[in-house]
Formats: sequence, structure tokens, C-alpha cells
Amino acid sequence: MLPLFVVDPALFDHAGPARRAFLLSCLEQLNRDLDGKLVLRFGQPVREVPKLAEEIGARSVFVTADATPNGVRRDEVVATALAQAGRQLVQVGSCYLNPPGSIRTGSGGRYKVFTPYWNVASTLPVSPPLGRSQGTWSTAHSSVALDEVARRPLAVHPVVDLVEPQAPPMLPDGGEAAAHQRLQRFLGVVDAYDEQRDLPADDATSRLSVDLHFGTLHPRQIVYAIGQGTSGRRAFLRQLGWRDFYADVLSANPTSAWNDLHPLGIDHDDDHEAHQRFVAWATGMTGFPLVDAGMRQLLAEGFMHNRVRMIAASFLVKDLHLPWQWGAHWFLHHLVDGDLASNSHGWQWVAGVGTDASPYFRVFNPTLQAKRFDPNSAYVQRWIPELVGLNPKAKSFSGTLFDEVQRRSIYPEPIVDHAREREEAIRRLTRANASVKEGAHQ
Ligand SMILES: Cc1cc2nc3c(=O)[nH]c(=O)nc-3n(C[C@H](O)[C@H](O)[C@H](O)COP(=O)(O)OP(=O)(O)OC[C@H]3O[C@@H](n4cnc5c(N)ncnc54)[C@H](O)[C@@H]3O)c2cc1C
Repeated sequence: MLPLFVVDPALFDHAGPARRAFLLSCLEQLNRDLDGKLVLRFGQPVREVPKLAEEIGARSVFVTADATPNGVRRDEVVATALAQAGRQLVQVGSCYLNPPGSIRTGSGGRYKVFTPYWNVASTLPVSPPLGRSQGTWSTAHSSVALDEVARRPLAVHPVVDLVEPQAPPMLPDGGEAAAHQRLQRFLGVVDAYDEQRDLPADDATSRLSVDLHFGTLHPRQIVYAIGQGTSGRRAFLRQLGWRDFYADVLSANPTSAWNDLHPLGIDHDDDHEAHQRFVAWATGMTGFPLVDAGMRQLLAEGFMHNRVRMIAASFLVKDLHLPWQWGAHWFLHHLVDGDLASNSHGWQWVAGVGTDASPYFRVFNPTLQAKRFDPNSAYVQRWIPELVGLNPKAKSFSGTLFDEVQRRSIYPEPIVDHAREREEAIRRLTRANASVKEGAHQ
């Protein structure tokens, strides 16, 4: 067997600094784990895979099945190219507990809401994790150098040309061994997960999203390590179900990657002032501490706590009246766990155009959310040095965006009046809802 990883410019060139750096550190570690036998190629998979297969006279190429719209298309063309030379592409397994498309409603359709999906998914058996492959690795073939790949220029953000920070300085370690260490740490706190998972100041969640995204852990390895023993463990498994569910929704509705799953035609702002509001949001300068703390955590760590993701996303859509896609692009670019299905559908859930059953009147109040979920301001003070007081846990920042923040060193006044913008959001949503209903009756 010959282990091959093809870095596809179509993906790599659009990934932000965090995901690039993490991927490269995983590849470096994987190569070490394989005694230097990993073959790394850079280019279009449709060329690189058949080329190497030809070089070594391979009969079959094995990959994990991909369910994303791009991944499906890519694997189809690779399979065709291999077939033309008498070779086969064999898709094995998936990186989900239940592969997209495998869970169906009674009438054979796809689920559109999480709870009924989970009622079925949670009853299905999970097959045990496989051990390591016992095959023999072929001797090494020529590879492209990792640092050559790392030098590829970063793509410009499609909404606003903000100066990029350097790769986040506080990325987790890449590779399988580090992933297992994260899992071990989490096993020590998982029983309190149901009570503490919404408190961003506590280290109460698993931080395994990055490993699930890059495949340094398979979800079934996590399921077998966690078990069902306590309410904390069951609550955690339910969250894992959201990952499968969103992948399923995206595979059933490929255009929902960047378009509303349930189009409402909500009015958004996109004038010059809207762009300025976006910059304030993206750089953590809205004057709403919990939103700003989250946005700064994102830039500094390539991560944001789930509750804060929801609050920051709601703020962009319902307080600033900007399209969810602007925020989703920014998240996807900066998150180290950036994942098309979870990100786009997480955003649409918040925006009220996705899989939520009755969402449109829900507008998070960032001040009340802060009182409830960050009552001692420990999270806010960790990420906003201007508000630090004397918090010994305060982190230091680096990167160009933060230079501006620190130079000003004055925390801004709130850029909007939440109560007024909440009413405006509901007005816009009601109007959009009414015209959708009217259209349906015509
Ligand atoms: C606007 C928005 C954008 C998001 N973007 C992403 C993204 O790009 N990539 C990503 O992996 N998650 C995304 N999420 C989901 C969630 O915020 C993260 O999975 C979670 O914060 C990761 O931290 P954790 O591993 O400690 O989570 P834990 O609480 O430990 O959860 C365990 C695992 O369950 C899965 N999970 C948990 N919550 C969700 C959820 N709401 N949706 C889907 N999967 C979930 C993740 O794989 C996670 O690692 C987004 C959520 C929102 C609201």
C-alpha cells in the first residue's frame, strides 16, 4: 500500500491560516507516524491520483467517501479518470457515524428537522473502531515539500479586504496522538457536559471538532470511549448527532451551502455603512463584550465556543442586518474546525432560514446572554484586554488586526441599540414571512 495525500489547491487556497497550519501539522505528524512514507502531492486530484497510480501500477485507489458537494464531484471525476486506465476508485466508510443519505423518513425522504432525525439515529448501532492497518507500506515516492505548500498566498475574503492576522498562535497540536490526548482530557470532564457546556469560560466542551473535521479521530472512536453512562455523556452524543445531521442536510440540498435552505427573502443592508458594521463585528469592536470576546477568540485561537458562535452570529444577522453569508465566510475562513455543513447550517439555524422549526422571533440579547452564561465576565475579560481589570487569565494577542485594537486601547460604545434593532429584525422577518405565505397562496 502506498499512502497518498493530495493537497488540492481548490480547497487549500481558500482555507484560512488556521486550517492550513493545522492541516500541515497533521500531515507532518502523519508522515512521521508512517516512517516518512507518506506521499504528498500538490495539484488537482483528477490529475495527481491517476498519475501516481500509473507510476506505481496500482489496481485500486481507496478513499473515505466524501458527501460535500465539491467532494462528490471531485471523486466522480477521479473515478472516471482511473477507470479509463482500467483502475478503480473504492470508497470505504465515511467520516460520520451515519453516512449522509443513510437515514430516511418513513416515506424514504430526508429529515429537515434535527429531533426526529436524532430519534432514529440515536437508536442505530455504531460499529466498533477498526484497528490499525496491518498492510505493508510501499517504499517512499517523490513528494512535494510541506513548506512549499505553506507558502501559497492566502485568498482574499469575499466580503471585505481586511488585513489578515498571522496564523493563530494558539492552535492545537496536529496529528492522531494529540487528538487522543484531547479525548482523554475530555473524558475527565464529560460527566458535567450537560450542565457546563454553555459556559464559555469553562473548558467544559471537548474541543474535538477540529479532529473530527480533519479525521484525526473518527466519531466512532469517540462514541466508544464516551459510552452512554451518564446524562452528560448522552448530551454530548446528541451534539455529535448535529454534525451528522447537518452533513445529511447539505448532501440532500447541495445549494444550501451558500443559499437559504428555506428562502425567506429577508431584506439585508449592504451599503458602505453595512461594511463598516461588518468590520466592527469581525474585529471584535462592536461594544457588546460577549460578541467581541468571541470574535477575538476566533482570531487568536481559530476557535469560538458554541454558545458564543450563536450569539455572535445572531448579532450579525439580527442586530446588524447583514446577510448570514458574510459572517459564514468569515467564520469558515478563520475557524480551525471550519466545516461547510456545520458552519453554513449553524448560520442558517440562527438566521431563521435553515433547519430550525420556529425560529424567526428568536433574537439573542447579547447582554442578557452574557449575564446568564458568563456571569463573572471571566470569558469576556480573558479576550478583551481593555476590560481586563486584573484578570490573571487574560491572554495576550498577536496579529495585525489586534494591533489596531490595542493601539486604540479604548473599548467602543455599543455600535447599535439592541432593543431597536431587535424590533427592526422582527419587522423585516415578519414582512419576508408574509410575502412568502402570500406567494404560496397565489
Ligand atoms: C454559527 C455557527 C457556526 C458553526 N460552525 C462550525 C464549523 O465550521 N465547524 C464545526 O465543527 N462546528 C461548527 N459549529 C458547531 C459548534 O459550534 C462546534 O462544533 C463546537 O463549538 C465545537 O466545539 P467542541 O468540539 O468543543 O464541541 P462539543 O460541545 O464538545 O461537541 C462535540 C462535537 O459535536 C459536534 N457539534 C456540537 N455542536 C454542534 C452543532 N451545533 N452543529 C454541528 N456539530 C456540532 C462537533 O463535531 C463537536 O466537536 C457552528 C455553530 C454555529 C452556531
